[in-house]
Amino acid sequence: MRAMRHALLASLALLASVSAQPAPYDVLLKNGRIVDGTGSPWFTGDVAIRGDAIAKIAPSITEPATRVIDVHGSVIAPGFIDIHTHARRGITQAPTAPNYARQGVTTVMEGPDGSSPLPLAPFLAQMETLKISINIGSFVGQGSVRSAVVGDTNRRATPAEIQKMTGLVEQGMKDGAFGISTGLFYVPGTFTPTEEVIELAKAAGRLGGIHESHQRDDAAKLLESVNETIAIGEKGGLPTQISHAKVVGVANWGRSADMLALVDAARARGVDVTIDQYPYTASSTSVAAALVPAWVLEGGREATLARLKEPGSREKAKGGIAMMIRDERGGGDPKNVQFASCGFDPSLAGKTLADLTRARGMAPTIRNAAEVVMWIVEQGGCQGIFHAMSERDLVRIMRHPATMVASDGEVPVFGRANPHPRSYGTFARVLGVYVRDKKVLTLEDAVRKMSAFPAARLGLSDRGVLRPGMKADIAVFDAAKVRDTATFAKPHQYAEGFSHVIVGGQVVFENGEMTAARPGHVLYGPARR
Ligand SMILES: [Zn+2]
Repeated sequence: MRAMRHALLASLALLASVSAQPAPYDVLLKNGRIVDGTGSPWFTGDVAIRGDAIAKIAPSITEPATRVIDVHGSVIAPGFIDIHTHARRGITQAPTAPNYARQGVTTVMEGPDGSSPLPLAPFLAQMETLKISINIGSFVGQGSVRSAVVGDTNRRATPAEIQKMTGLVEQGMKDGAFGISTGLFYVPGTFTPTEEVIELAKAAGRLGGIHESHQRDDAAKLLESVNETIAIGEKGGLPTQISHAKVVGVANWGRSADMLALVDAARARGVDVTIDQYPYTASSTSVAAALVPAWVLEGGREATLARLKEPGSREKAKGGIAMMIRDERGGGDPKNVQFASCGFDPSLAGKTLADLTRARGMAPTIRNAAEVVMWIVEQGGCQGIFHAMSERDLVRIMRHPATMVASDGEVPVFGRANPHPRSYGTFARVLGVYVRDKKVLTLEDAVRKMSAFPAARLGLSDRGVLRPGMKADIAVFDAAKVRDTATFAKPHQYAEGFSHVIVGGQVVFENGEMTAARPGHVLYGPARR
């Protein structure tokens, strides 16, 4: 009995001494230039990972590790958090999301522009079972909510409908949304009075959410739209964000200064308003949304086609479309409109509206192009790319301290269609073109705009900064070599310069290839956390 007790004590002592020994780290990144996400200057050091978290950061870590990776002076940064994406376009076909992972993005947010899956819970459950390489979260979309309750018609909602919509927003938040998104530029968001948006925003805010907006108008009524986005935050009692901030149309170029002045004034009086942006002077959305007036699109496809058949309204529509080509998304010339994909004719991908106008036997004037736009709508529509912004506005917005980086991209199926290059290049482009080549931002500030800043915006307190205890979402890249290679003519090209991308402690990208690891998780918003 005594001997047995002795043996037990001895083995307990042995166990204690074993557990006192530090287990080896799982992954040790050696010799990095650590850019920790806070904006502080880089420092030389090693990063050790155990399980899914960062275990230690120090100038030199000598304890053993299962795997040691010498990064030879490359930057070690927090994995990038993309707060505005359309990742549900394509993620089920490409669950590794290589276009994002290969440029250091380890988390994407869905449900942008007022458009989200509804209800949200089944979508998030599907993402959890899909086994993806990066993390995903979502907003709940005001447009989707309004479409479900009011339809796509241009009318005020009744008090009962507002109550119903509020319930759907609350449900979205409880399902795990990070807040409410609006797309007041789009049908049906465009039919929503500001006061109604504010009521729904209050519901999201009560549950800890934020508001992000694809504004009502990024062209002639840009400043009114910025004031509206600010008012939604101010009166709704929640943080608010201008999504993919831009100034569309030659006539409006330069107004970014006024836009930022409004943001500064709002922040000075205590409104929590911020901005996100992609680093390109072309936008992308459907040809109909970009170039056809909302009244033509009201009520859905059948109603639209009926209007285009009636000669009087067709003529009026043509005038509206011509104006939008001349002064807004059309960039003043049909050659500034490029097709990303056309369901009715895949061969049009990459061609311009001027090309198609000529191919249909007409000179590529704005009036003729407007006729072709109506024809496109009748055929079923296209996704387009619209070259209608200026580099000076882009740079001015990028430099603003309240601006973060977000792609507004999707998960393209490699080689299919002609998507906007932002899906492949946004983060690498900021680091290559705007940090290294043009010196618009410092490296540290750019990384902050891609990691700690969006993490704080989303209330993700366990990632976005390199610090022991944080989730090990990490991007390793060579600051001298990082660059985007996707272009408007050849978008299906991955970013270069990244050597390792780690999600939850597991390497998802190395040696130029995605690995078999699928450690991505669904991230849940404040009401479900
Ligand atoms: Zn948008």
